[in-house]
Amino acid sequence: MDAKSIEADLVRVLCTEEQIQERLAELAQEVWEHYEGEDLLLVGVLKGAVMVMADFMRHLPGSAPMDWMAVSSYGSGTKSSGVVRILKDLDADITGKHVLIVEDIIDSGLTLSWIRTNLLSRSPASVEVLTLLRKPDAAKVEVETRWVGFDIPNEFVVGYGLDYAEGYRGLREVATLAPHVYS
Ligand code: 5GP
Ligand code: MG
Ligand code: MG
Repeated sequence: MDAKSIEADLVRVLCTEEQIQERLAELAQEVWEHYEGEDLLLVGVLKGAVMVMADFMRHLPGSAPMDWMAVSSYGSGTKSSGVVRILKDLDADITGKHVLIVEDIIDSGLTLSWIRTNLLSRSPASVEVLTLLRKPDAAKVEVETRWVGFDIPNEFVVGYGLDYAEGYRGLREVATLAPHVYS
């Protein structure tokens, strides 16, 4: 997959690099004010949230530790079922901590809903969610999401951490894929 072929695989850019950075800077400011003086822990969900975490964290006016979780969601094909297995758990004990889950996208919401419930069972001080993208029309369960970067249409997107068959994660923007890629 060379750089040229990637351009040809994209149909429409939904969020440009500039829009993403500007929005993450705004959110970082809001988040920082919200948690002022608190013991904040950023929890990223691998692998999609890698880019969001990296840029969001660098927009924060101060430092906060990060930790990572990896989960697999059982489902038929591309649809998530809400049945989740932990592939990599957090390194740290979150008891008494203010946890902010950093996500790439909320689609059905099933995976995140499961993660949120799981983390809440570990006696943290609080659990909130920040996601770069959300598809309101795809929601199967409501997940309380305090910070949302962009609401997008119910279409499959790639880039900025989001993959199709492990490709396209390195794109600096979020875009829809051309149909010829799937076939
Ligand atoms: P949910 O459980 O909310 O349906 O799915 C969550 C996960 O599915 C996301 O973290 C992401 O990995 C994947 N996903 C959902 N929608 C998209 C999309 O439009 N593009 C890509 N590349 N992955 C998606
Ligand atoms: Mg994700
Ligand atoms: Mg994926």
